[in-house]
Amino acid sequence: MSLSEYKKIGLGLLAMLLAACTDSVNVADTENTVFPDNQYYFSYAPNDMAANDSISANLAHGVKLSVHPNASYELSFKKDPLVSGVPELQLFHLYLNSDSTAYYGKKIRSLQPKEIDGRFVYTFTCEEKDNAEWATSLSVDGAFYKGRTDSVRWIGSGAYSDHFSLNLVVVGKHTLTSDSVGVEELAQKTLQAFRKYYTSVHIDTIYIRYADQHPKLGSKYPANEPWLAGRSSSDMFLYELGGWPEDHVREALDIVYVYRIERELTIGYASLFSGNLGGGALSTVLVGNYVMSAEGSKKERLLSSDEIVETILHETGHFFGLRHTTSTMNDFSVSHDLSIIEDGLEDTPYCVELLRRRLLKSSVMEPSVPQRPVMPGEFYERVFWDASDAQAIAECPDARNFMFPATMDESFEGFSEQQLELIRRNLMIFPH
Ligand SMILES: [Zn+2]
Repeated sequence: MSLSEYKKIGLGLLAMLLAACTDSVNVADTENTVFPDNQYYFSYAPNDMAANDSISANLAHGVKLSVHPNASYELSFKKDPLVSGVPELQLFHLYLNSDSTAYYGKKIRSLQPKEIDGRFVYTFTCEEKDNAEWATSLSVDGAFYKGRTDSVRWIGSGAYSDHFSLNLVVVGKHTLTSDSVGVEELAQKTLQAFRKYYTSVHIDTIYIRYADQHPKLGSKYPANEPWLAGRSSSDMFLYELGGWPEDHVREALDIVYVYRIERELTIGYASLFSGNLGGGALSTVLVGNYVMSAEGSKKERLLSSDEIVETILHETGHFFGLRHTTSTMNDFSVSHDLSIIEDGLEDTPYCVELLRRRLLKSSVMEPSVPQRPVMPGEFYERVFWDASDAQAIAECPDARNFMFPATMDESFEGFSEQQLELIRRNLMIFPH
């Protein structure tokens, strides 16, 4: 392939590099190709039903789609009755440069829509070998489409099984939980809870791995030292421990169990729609044995086995693409989209009081332009409440759903039917 098929796109903050590279693009070769001209940090995951107004607003000029091998997709939006012309959807495979500061795009599809019930509908299959990121543009006669593209929907269906297993990866020193549960019993409780609540999919088994026994990396993770995620290494999620051992590399979700997460009141972390059961980047969810107090790193509280298991269920929901039932300030700073106040599912309520009080504040208070391309699904966390908010929160109609963004004293009801369906659909998209 010639260099002219590629173009550096996005990231205006790298203006000098961009200018240098644009010179190498042969304009004649890219006739009819309308390269995205966004900085697109808006990422879209299949089967996400949230409002996603920013996706609708940016679809023509470029948003990122996370795609998986052999999956079939349908992207659609409302036809704008005031604008003539049928927009062509162009899709571009994105490549990150070596220091992850810029994207290159190569066109891989030009698609014409069908018009169904007042919507333009585009269908395509992903023929990539690995998980990939694509970007969009919409054009008419070689120029950006100028119509509105409201109410975007992206539905995905996968070709893989509805089974998977769990890896409990134990990193460093641990103690018994506050109710005296050790690692093996915790693993069994986790497996039972998954089978009870993840009813739309099948959990084959749970493995326990001890990081100090890793054949290559074991010496980095001594069993007698407390691992403080976010402080002990720059890779908070310990992605290098995912997908181990290799004979189970694509069948199990890696749950990394550390001593503590180095962020106040935070007991679990996951990336939204991680999409990777094969080890490496985005292949893990994270949970702690202790939680750091609001006063900082000098105080901590030992967690109960129920708190840990419920957190694993919650973080795994994010892994499969579930949003919080009600968005937090941190969620807004991750999505850069103030239209996403809730998950968009019809059978999960959300909590107006939570939004009104701007509860669950975050250290990252305002959406900001990232300094590098945002990888799919930045981090979603689960936290403890500040006690002063407890009364208002207890009355939230979604407080007993697993995807409520904080812990509750009340028992959980589980996932809704639509959440379970979304988990199943996305599991079958993830190669395994
Ligand atoms: Zn969460």
